[in-house]
Amino acid sequence: MINSLYLKKYFYVFLFINFIFFLELGYKKIFAEEDIKDKKFKKESNFKEAMFYEKLKDKKVKCNLCPRGCVLKDGEIGFCRVRQNMEGMLYSLNYSKVAAINIDPIEKKPFFHFLPGTKAFSVACAGCNLRCKYCQNWDISQRGASDSIDRFLSPKELVDAALKSGAKSIAYTYSEPTVFYEYVIDSAKLAREKGLKNVVVTSGFINPEPLKELIKYVDAFKIDLKGFNEGFYLKYTSGGLKPVLESLKVIKNSKRHIEIVNLVIPGANDSEEDIRSVSKWIKENLGPEIPVHFTRFYPNYLMTQTPPTSKNTLIVARKIAMDEGLKYVYTGNIDNPEGETTYCPGNKIAIERRGFFLLKNNLNKGKCPDGTKIYGVFE
Ligand code: SF4
Repeated sequence: MINSLYLKKYFYVFLFINFIFFLELGYKKIFAEEDIKDKKFKKESNFKEAMFYEKLKDKKVKCNLCPRGCVLKDGEIGFCRVRQNMEGMLYSLNYSKVAAINIDPIEKKPFFHFLPGTKAFSVACAGCNLRCKYCQNWDISQRGASDSIDRFLSPKELVDAALKSGAKSIAYTYSEPTVFYEYVIDSAKLAREKGLKNVVVTSGFINPEPLKELIKYVDAFKIDLKGFNEGFYLKYTSGGLKPVLESLKVIKNSKRHIEIVNLVIPGANDSEEDIRSVSKWIKENLGPEIPVHFTRFYPNYLMTQTPPTSKNTLIVARKIAMDEGLKYVYTGNIDNPEGETTYCPGNKIAIERRGFFLLKNNLNKGKCPDGTKIYGVFE
């Protein structure tokens, strides 16, 4: 009697455990299907399959867009926070998700020799493939794409908005256009069809093949040449100098317009040797006509204890670069009228600016009164 009661009890416990086990299996199955459905939905609606990647074994992928070459397992997200492996395919997570949008004077990018005095419809998506400790836009560059914060704007909507604003160009800027590559390409193709120019403000930390594809649709590049030694790049940006120099040569060979910015940071890249080396390299490899902007650092992000660059440092940097033979050298983020003006040979004023604003343009179809052609695109 006692034994049969115990057996019944164990039998019911056994049934109960099995019930829970099968319930859980079923839940997992349903959950997995929902998860996959959700991913498929997202793929169709928001995410864009990435360009420049290769499929590896076991659903791994290798991203070939930038020199990091992230190898990602299923579900993993790249260093830039905006490219994800989903079931063996790489997707851009920030496609059409706009994190910042503004209408800026093109001088603010800064471009001083490309359609001066015009407006650039400026757009950014989240993410970056560098980790600059002094990033001025870290609130968008150092995060992933977000459905709740970012605004959805298709390439067509972007181009329509730019046309409506009266801007002459779309600037892909603020964060790092390399990591919203597919959005740039699709938007730039459409923009060109509608008569708008495309300008890219980038670190140049991109592989040559995707860069060559990008160049087909872009009219002007502003490259941040952040320093001139590998140690600086590694310590302050987590990137590398060599790929950036390579990008500059590729763009130069393509004959696209280039301007270079060097943010001068006290104690990091402000030595005479640094400034002289970077100026020499530009002259020898890109030519003396490429405009160079030495700009002032302000304490920001992880470098709030470093003081701002002094005005004198920037004036000296400009002088060194001009002594090395560069023709168009500017200072930025300081009040220095001489360093904001473009001069013709003989020191006549070609274009006068104050800060980001054009005061007077004395050029006629890009030529000085004596007929000398100034480097750039002026109409
Ligand atoms: S673009 Fe992003 S995912 Fe691709 S290699 Fe660079 S950091 Fe990695």
